[in-house]
Amino acid sequence: MRRKIVKIDESKCNGCGQCATACAEGAIQIIDGKARIVNDSYCDGLGACLGKCPVDAITIEEREAPAFNEAAAMQHVARTRGPGHAHPHDHGHSHPSAPAPLRAR
Ligand code: SF4
Repeated sequence: MRRKIVKIDESKCNGCGQCATACAEGAIQIIDGKARIVNDSYCDGLGACLGKCPVDAITIEEREAPAFNEAAAMQHVARTRGPGHAHPHDHGHSHPSAPAPLRAR
């Protein structure tokens, strides 16, 4: 599918890692001193990382890429950063665990 996804200009990137830290999906890693998208399906294309880059190396482009897979991204974050760091935007189910109010008789 064609969709918006982050593009990193390697000639500008200094490998500071701020984008990788900012990415809630863990889509960016510093590899060989440059920021890289580790898996296209982890990037939601919303660009939370854009404002973090001190050298404006990150832009959003539209290109062919697999759809954003939030479940896979969250598993990846849990694997690489620990379960406490996985914060899905919307994890697709409600939480019925809150106690139901007692009914007045
Ligand atoms: S924030 Fe910018 S300069 Fe730093 S690693 Fe990411 S793309 Fe590179």
